[in-house]
Amino acid sequence: MNPRVVSFHYTLKDKEGNLIDSSEGSHPLSYLEGTGQIISGLEDEIKSMNSGDKKIISVDADKAYGQKNPELVFDVPKSQFPEDEVLSVGMMFQTDEPDTVYTITEIKGETIIVDGNHPLAGVDLVFDVQIVNIRTATDEEVSHGHVHGEGGHHHH
Ligand SMILES: [Zn+2]
Repeated sequence: MNPRVVSFHYTLKDKEGNLIDSSEGSHPLSYLEGTGQIISGLEDEIKSMNSGDKKIISVDADKAYGQKNPELVFDVPKSQFPEDEVLSVGMMFQTDEPDTVYTITEIKGETIIVDGNHPLAGVDLVFDVQIVNIRTATDEEVSHGHVHGEGGHHHH
């Protein structure tokens, strides 16, 4: 049997209750089960849920974006950045390495501190989830490894 396609609305907060992200006001998020499209700690809990169900799901950092890796925090001399770039804390940029986004976390004179960890690394997450729809994936979706239609990939 094909895996399920799950569509859900969510509000994501940290343990202190600060809002991180929410699908409210836009399309629900849809994913194909078993493809790693959402974090494993969340998918594990949703597996036992049905359409219409609501649940508060806590996912520790280990099962979400992992712990912060101190080796991804660097001091970079300001001279290594393009001269015309106005640098500020929170600015994100990529290097030659794919899949790593660095964020400027501190500016100390001529030294720029950058952090290549995921912004949510080390953060324990609390999801307020409501399942909107669950259906069986089509053969085409299974072979493509992603969801088609609303909330899915429209072009590939
Ligand atoms: Zn496709």
